[in-house]
Amino acid sequence: MANEKNNIPIKIYLSEAELPKQWYNVKADMKEQHAPFLNPATLKPVTFEELCGIFITELVKQELNETDRYIDIPEEVLNFYKMVRPSPLVRATFLEKALGTPAKIYYKFEGNNTSGSHKLNSAIAQAYYAKEQGLTSITTETGAGQWGTALAMACSFFDIKLDVFMVKGSAMQKPDRVEVMKTYGAEVTPSPSMVTNVGRKISEEKPGTTGSLGCAISEAIEVCATRDKCKYALGSVLDYVLLHQSIIGLEVKTACEKYGIKPDIIIGCAGGGSNLGGLIGPFVGEKIQGKNDIRIIAVEPASCPSLTRGKYAYDFGDTGKITPLLKMYTIGNGFIPSPIHAGGLRFHGMSPIISKLYADGYIEATSVGQKEVFEAASLFSRTEGILPAPESAHAIRATIIEAEKCKETGEEKTIIFGLTGTGHFDMSAYRMYNSGEMVDSILTEEDLQKGFETIPKVD
Ligand SMILES: *Cc1c(COP(=O)(O)O)cnc(C)c1O
Repeated sequence: MANEKNNIPIKIYLSEAELPKQWYNVKADMKEQHAPFLNPATLKPVTFEELCGIFITELVKQELNETDRYIDIPEEVLNFYKMVRPSPLVRATFLEKALGTPAKIYYKFEGNNTSGSHKLNSAIAQAYYAKEQGLTSITTETGAGQWGTALAMACSFFDIKLDVFMVKGSAMQKPDRVEVMKTYGAEVTPSPSMVTNVGRKISEEKPGTTGSLGCAISEAIEVCATRDKCKYALGSVLDYVLLHQSIIGLEVKTACEKYGIKPDIIIGCAGGGSNLGGLIGPFVGEKIQGKNDIRIIAVEPASCPSLTRGKYAYDFGDTGKITPLLKMYTIGNGFIPSPIHAGGLRFHGMSPIISKLYADGYIEATSVGQKEVFEAASLFSRTEGILPAPESAHAIRATIIEAEKCKETGEEKTIIFGLTGTGHFDMSAYRMYNSGEMVDSILTEEDLQKGFETIPKVD
């Protein structure tokens, strides 16, 4: 690889011709695969046909593909990508200066589209394959609203009806997010709702609940099952979502090779693990092959610590226990995290791929508190100009911690982090921080234990 060039632009934009034409499937390079999904009724691996009952067929094929290192991006998807990609890799010089660190900090910015996050990378692919299959509608859930927004954009592009179950707490915090989805033609229902059996049941058991992603997933799947030519779409966690998000890491890798940038540390926030999986994909693939020794850090909220405090076990992806069982780091499907402002990180589990990479020691994990996250977000917005999403700010906080270590040791490390989105719809969260009303929720062992008790016993 070339040595680092002296003329690296502050903002590296690849050309349209440099846009990757294939996604990268990290599973082809993993020495061991994650455990298969299990059918909760039989505890046998879920079959292709069973998965096709819920999910779009081509996506199921991608989900189960362990051998093809590269998978072609369909032309229609590539053409859509050209409207919003390649996304820039930016040197955070002003943040470096403010920190007084010798570290070189870069961020990959995924917020430059109306949905405001990386979620669009997978949404457009999912809507495309739905259209190809002749489906007429899709159901989904959304936590913070970014996934619902991205899928609403994608579905309107391919003329597919979309129903979104949105975690009630988020819908109340961010009414404008709901309006964006409606503008793109989606129907939005706060969850738990009264329109599904599982929604009614959860509302009865936990009156006044602000909902959870796990609950919204149950509702979306239930509605999907009652309809013809309808499938359910998921915006994170699954292998095929990480596959689509690999476009992020492939672009970063191309930019690094072009300019001779050699990352020592790559940092990403982790909710369900999709942006992190996409960002690190091609790098961790090489790490597995012994070609690099990059430190990879997953950052999660202290209030929803699946990697750092969870159990590596088979669990449901949802509170209503209708999904297949996934072997992953989890704090329990019945765990309802406090309504922190990084709604996109409030999932009880973690991507099976990320879980496996973590269990096998290829990646590290850390957790950070809400207030330090917003402090980092404020510093970043003042120095770098971009108002980050609270989720993304978890990665910023962890980057600052690493950059401060470099200041102590004098090491000139190169750190790349994923800036997954903008926080324009999160002003109620910023308002809480600015007025000093924001609190950190401290999870006790007892709180965690309650969640662990909801993990099914499977050996
Ligand atoms: C959804 C979301 C996340 C977390 O989801 P992952 O699947 O872990 O990537 C992070 N940042 C933003 C802006 C999001 O919208």
